[in-house]
Amino acid sequence: MTVVTADGGPASSLGQGTGGALESPGGAGGLPEPLVVEHVSVRFGALRALDDVSLRAEPGSIHAIIGPNGAGKSTLFNVISGIYRPVEGRVLLGETVLTGRRPHQITAFGIGRSFQNLAGSPYEPVLENIMIGRHHLTRTGFLAAGLRLPAARREERLHRARVKEIAEFLGLTALLPVPIGMLAYGDRKRVEVARALATEPRVLLLDEPVAGMNAAETAQMAATVRQIRDGLGITVLLVEHDMSMVMSLADRVTVLDFGQRIADGDPAAVQRDPAVIRAYLGPGEQDGPGESGGPAAAEPSGDAASDASPAGREVAP
Ligand code: ADP
Ligand code: MG
Repeated sequence: MTVVTADGGPASSLGQGTGGALESPGGAGGLPEPLVVEHVSVRFGALRALDDVSLRAEPGSIHAIIGPNGAGKSTLFNVISGIYRPVEGRVLLGETVLTGRRPHQITAFGIGRSFQNLAGSPYEPVLENIMIGRHHLTRTGFLAAGLRLPAARREERLHRARVKEIAEFLGLTALLPVPIGMLAYGDRKRVEVARALATEPRVLLLDEPVAGMNAAETAQMAATVRQIRDGLGITVLLVEHDMSMVMSLADRVTVLDFGQRIADGDPAAVQRDPAVIRAYLGPGEQDGPGESGGPAAAEPSGDAASDASPAGREVAP
């Protein structure tokens, strides 16, 4: 399988970073490029899950996407990663149009993602689970690997070495041999992030990475996300209900409600935006954009369960 990076050259990340701190991924050899969502609409039957949504995530920034349950956040991630095709609009990484490409091609262009719900076989060790993220970087192919040819063995050793670096970066080294079914919830969520990082992304999509975590796990994940931006230079798109985390981490925030973009800007401005306060508190409960309103005040912080959103209203099915 030929591996191509977004700048058209072959991916060459395998030798990087051995013996030291985790370095920038292979895809980062090209110019830093923004991830641009242009006028994207998605419909499920009569439902407009996304309606003319645009945003621009600057390279090397943390760009949060927030909004009440059912607002369309996960749908937007599914559009960016090629799982859903929009009826209108497109997604670009720099000049490269991603829309219309298959999910594995979009991964190869440098878009990595973790899923809101945990995936992976419970019996497989952590190491093998993270290795799944490197599948598209494998050159020698299944036949050579199955025959245990020397080139395939060498390549596998390099992939394993890289996976161990990524595991160390996430504090998972001691857990590498442990089947994921035996892990604490917070550790499994970190394995999900490690698997996404193992794809060597330039843009990392994190869908509720601290949902269900306790306060200590949340603080650790927040530090990791910051380190992914500052240490690795990776652009992070972050869907998150924990508003204290969003407000402390994000460089920019886009707010969705019922599939529409209702606000976009720096965290402090978005937090004060009356439309945002209305979306979170529900109609008729707004007493002005004061201290008591807004997403930050509505979030108890830390150990909220995954379905405990700061939304004042639930979306009817
Ligand atoms: P969020 O992640 O913001 O909570 P979602 O993007 O998951 O919201 O969902 C947005 C809306 O689209 C919701 O009303 C949801 O029920 C609907 N939806 C999401 N995926 C599908 C699908 N595959 N088929 C039909 N409706 C869907
Ligand atoms: Mg979601």
